[in-house]
Amino acid sequence: MEDLKISYWDLLDNITEGAYITDIKRKIIYWNKAAERITGYTKEEVLGKHCYDNILIHIDSQGCNLCKGSCPLAQSLTDGESRHSQIFLHHKEGYRKPVYARILPIRDGTGKIIAGVEFFNDIMDHNTFNLKMLELEQLAFKDQLTELPNRRYAEEQLISRLSEFERLGIFFGLLFFDIDHFKKFNDTFGHETGDKILKTVAKTLNANSRQYDLYSRWGGEEFIGIIAGADKDSLLSIANKILILVRHSEVTIDGAMHSVTISVGGTLCQYGDTYHTIVKRADALMYNSKEKGRNCVTI
Ligand code: GH3
Ligand code: MG
Ligand code: MG
Repeated sequence: MEDLKISYWDLLDNITEGAYITDIKRKIIYWNKAAERITGYTKEEVLGKHCYDNILIHIDSQGCNLCKGSCPLAQSLTDGESRHSQIFLHHKEGYRKPVYARILPIRDGTGKIIAGVEFFNDIMDHNTFNLKMLELEQLAFKDQLTELPNRRYAEEQLISRLSEFERLGIFFGLLFFDIDHFKKFNDTFGHETGDKILKTVAKTLNANSRQYDLYSRWGGEEFIGIIAGADKDSLLSIANKILILVRHSEVTIDGAMHSVTISVGGTLCQYGDTYHTIVKRADALMYNSKEKGRNCVTI
C-alpha cells in the first residue's frame, strides 16, 4: 500500500498539469513539477507556506485577490464542492499568467474533507510564441529589452491588417498603452528597476495575448496591441483586462514589491486609415486617459 502511494506521487509529478495539495488549513503540502514550470516557484520555495501567503496571489479577471477574499480552495474545503475557473496567477518573475484551474476537495475513508487539490493548465501557447520569436529574432524584429516584437514589426503588421480590412472587411482594434509616471518611477528606484518593470509588463501582455493578437513595444514605456476581429465591446473588455493585470504585476527588489499602472487608448480601424492615422487616434485616446487621472481606458 505504501509503495502504491509513492507511485501516486510519481504519477502526479509527471502530468503536464500543474498540481498542488493543501491540508485543511490551506498549508501547501505537495507541489508538482509542472507547477514549478508554470509558476517559476520550486517546491522548496512553496512547501509549508499557506496558499494565501504572498506567493500565488491568484486574481480573477476583475483583479480581485482570490487568496484573501473568496478563495475557491477555501470554499471547496468548506462545502465539499469542486470548482473551476480561469484565474491569473502570479509568476515568480512578477507577471500575470492565465491558467485554467480546477479545485477538488480530498476526503478520507469516512468522507471527511482532509485536504484540497488544485490542478491548473498553462493556457499560453509557448510553442507558437517561441516559433514566432525565433522568426522575429532572425529578422531583427525583436525588441532586445522586453523580447516583444518591436515597432518595425508592429508597423508592418498594421499595414497588412489595414489592407486585409480594406479588401475583406475584417475589423481589428488597436490599443495604445503608456506607463503612468514612469519617469518618477525610474528616478525613485533606478533605471535598472525601471527596465525590470518594462520586462514584466511585456511578459504580462504576451502571456495574456490571444492567439491572433499581437503586443509589441512601440517606444520607451509605450506598447501597442493589435486585437484581431475586435468590436467596441471586446476591445474595451480586453483593454480593461490588461489594465488590471498590469496593475497586479510586480517586480520584487530587495524584498519590496513594485508595480505600475498604465493609461490605455483604444480604437477600431476605419475605412481610409493608414497606420499613421490609426496609431495617432489610439495615442490621442490614451492621452484622454492620462487627463482623466491615468490608470484607465478610453475607447
Ligand atoms: P506619464 O504618466 O505622463 O506617461 O508620465 P511618464 O513619466 O511616464 O512620462 P514621460 O514620457 O515623461 O517619461 C517616460 C520615461 O520612460 C522617460 C524615460 O526615462 C523612461 N524610459 C524610456 N525608455 C526606457 C527604458 O528602456 N528603460 C527605462 N528604465 N526607462 C525608460
Ligand atoms: Mg510615454
Ligand atoms: Mg508614461
